[in-house]
Parts: sequence; C-alpha cells; structure tokens
Amino acid sequence: MTIYRKWYCTCTGEPVELTCNEFLEDEPVELVCELCGATPSSDPRRTLIFRELDDWED
Ligand SMILES: [Zn+2]
Repeated sequence: MTIYRKWYCTCTGEPVELTCNEFLEDEPVELVCELCGATPSSDPRRTLIFRELDDWED
C-alpha cells in the first residue's frame, strides 16, 4: 500500500487538480497549476492544498 498526495489549487475558488508538468526526462516531475502556475514548491499565494490517498492496489 502506498500513500500519496493529490494536489489541488484553489485559485479559482474551487479545488482544481494539478497536472504533471513533464517535458524534460532528466528533471523531476513537478505538479503545476495550469491557471496560475503555482507548484507545491512555489506557492506564494498559498492556494495549494493536498489530500492524502491510500493506494490499495500496491
Ligand atoms: Zn492555481
């Protein structure tokens, strides 16, 4: 079982799931809000929230 975080941005007033920004193979995959550009490591407006989910299939 793996616990992982699902990230959301609330910049629109509603939680919007972050998408993977994955265009460089050598770079770590980072989640980014397509609307405001916030990421878990750069969240100046503190709009990001996350939920911890259990993956029972692992
Ligand atoms: Zn946003």
